[in-house]
Amino acid sequence: MYGKGILKGLSVTWKRFWDTYLDDISWWVRGKKRYYTTEGVAHRSSKDARGIFTVQYPEEQLIQPEEFRFVPFLVFDGNEENKEVRCTSCGICAKVCPPQCIWIVRTNDPNTGKPVPQPAEFYVDMDICMNCGFCAEYCPFDAIKMDHEFAIASYDRNVYNLEKLLKPASYYAEIRPLNYNKEEEARKAKEAAKAAKAAAATQAA
Ligand code: SF4
Ligand code: SF4
Repeated sequence: MYGKGILKGLSVTWKRFWDTYLDDISWWVRGKKRYYTTEGVAHRSSKDARGIFTVQYPEEQLIQPEEFRFVPFLVFDGNEENKEVRCTSCGICAKVCPPQCIWIVRTNDPNTGKPVPQPAEFYVDMDICMNCGFCAEYCPFDAIKMDHEFAIASYDRNVYNLEKLLKPASYYAEIRPLNYNKEEEARKAKEAAKAAKAAAATQAA
């Protein structure tokens, strides 16, 4: 029959249309809100969603999976007043970055002129960054991580400096809890092994 495909397609639209209202009613009966709530957005993103599954961006935003990545940021420990920047300005991230959009200036000791393992300046051109995550993969100090923040469009060039790149470790723990905990456990195990080795060496002496 001609038009069978059209009718089939329309029936899907029709079903989705009515399911939206049925879903709305079932949420209303349970005294819950299906729109503009985290629970509602999570439901609409799940396989259980029967009716409307789109979100009203930017008022509503999809819940991002942990491994979602956009542009990089630099991690610091300590607090806002006393930032312990993890980056040692080793330059590995700048070397592996495929489009070469990272620039680092290493700090030098003003008295001796010798290099100090921390960045004096750090820039990432976010308009060139291709979101590959290589910088975060290769950093030996867990100092650069991939952010979930994606709404960064602007009329100006998006070149982030050190001030704009730095975010606390607590933020990293919040957006990537599994990765953060895994890294912290590995760090603690490494420190414990180091302490045990030092204790054994002292005992042997
Ligand atoms: S972010 Fe990591 S890889 Fe890049 S310079 Fe700093 S310590 Fe090295
Ligand atoms: S995510 Fe990829 S392109 Fe972007 S700064 Fe890191 S290495 Fe470079």
